Amino acid sequence: MKALIIGAGIGGMSAAAALKQQGIECDIFEAVKEIKPVGAALSIWSNGVKCMTHLGMGHIMDALGGPMHNLAYQDGFTGSVMTQFSLAPLVEAVGERPCPVSRADLQSQMIDHWGREKIQFGKRIEKVKQNETGVTAYFTDGSQASGDFMIAADGTHSAVRSHVLGYQTERRYAGYVNWNGLVDVDENIAPGDQWTTFVGEGKRVSIMPIANNRFYFFFDVPLPKGLEEDRSTVISDLKGYFKDWAEPVQILIDAIDAQATNRIEIHDIEPFDTFVKDNIALLGDAAHSTTPDIGQGGCSALEDAVVLGQCFAEARLITNTDIKNVLKSYEKKRHFRAKDLVLKARKRCDVTHGKDMQETQAWYDELRAEKGENIIAGLSNTILGGPLA
Ligand code: FAD
Repeated sequence: MKALIIGAGIGGMSAAAALKQQGIECDIFEAVKEIKPVGAALSIWSNGVKCMTHLGMGHIMDALGGPMHNLAYQDGFTGSVMTQFSLAPLVEAVGERPCPVSRADLQSQMIDHWGREKIQFGKRIEKVKQNETGVTAYFTDGSQASGDFMIAADGTHSAVRSHVLGYQTERRYAGYVNWNGLVDVDENIAPGDQWTTFVGEGKRVSIMPIANNRFYFFFDVPLPKGLEEDRSTVISDLKGYFKDWAEPVQILIDAIDAQATNRIEIHDIEPFDTFVKDNIALLGDAAHSTTPDIGQGGCSALEDAVVLGQCFAEARLITNTDIKNVLKSYEKKRHFRAKDLVLKARKRCDVTHGKDMQETQAWYDELRAEKGENIIAGLSNTILGGPLA
């Protein structure tokens, strides 16, 4: 039994790990010759960390996870603390810690865990054909590959998605721009063991500790799509958008390496229920593309992979007809959870980024009264909805 895996991102690599656990051979095809992830870091929340451990990659979390033990919101202008609390009760409630990690290191270590030399880089799928007995992928370099089934983990711009759905999806602009990167930990910006977020005017500046004494930072600003801004104007753009913000925010902007800072217009895709067409399954962002507002896109890809593995384990296959049923059961078990996360993130996105400033102001007021219980309850609820709760 052989699977073709399209994409060597978090989704593709975790799917490969899950299938390998079930004794299924995988050939992995990745479009780019060298992986250069969009985004400096990401938070793998406890549900994602559990998946990594389940898939035999817990050591990667141990090596890369930053010391994020506390959480705080601060007023963007005055810098005054709105709420600050320990994340220990969250870890206690859900049975695992969250791990903010360098994205490049995560992807690189997942690839090394599989065996870099076994991945076929520079293979961009452009067409797929399927029949009763298998699937064939056609690549832009003229080559092709066949297998019993395909896991398409080719990201938000998936080339396989429209084949599975039978229609093209549109990406929806979420209304804000995100700049992100890494700086050395500096306690004048924020404590080195805390996820700190400055908020005001529907904007936010967030700082998370990752391994090796580095902060992952991101700035969000509600803006129209398509502005002519790039790396050459990062510092002056941020200085303008965050003029009059508190001293730590100014220190952070001064510490930024503009050439290593990403500027991303944030999008999602209206959730859909179909992840599978016979022996082809979508996984990760190809199946459910979310805004990063609850930090669950990558975690959701990891959850997909765990559930995919569980479905194969339950089925004890296997003929080629059985594969369709296994993939259908994967779809059945995943589509509601994945949709829920996308819609939760969309809602959080709107409140955080001032879609209705009255609602955003009410949230700022709530933060000033927050002792931690409500935020931890919300995080626990999201985390415990995963397959390894
Ligand atoms: P991708 O990471 O996009 O990987 C897809 C792979 O497929 C790529 O390597 C690509 O080169 C390859 N590919 C594309 N097209 C083809 C093709 N035609 N043929 C072959 N290969 C192809 N998630 C979290 O869990 N926590 C966070 O804190 C978080 N923060 C985020 C912050 C930002 C600013 C953004 C934009 C996203 C964030 N996410 C976060 C979401 C997370 O990055 C994605 O959900 C995750 O990377 C999805 O993994 P994937 O493997 O499905 O897709």
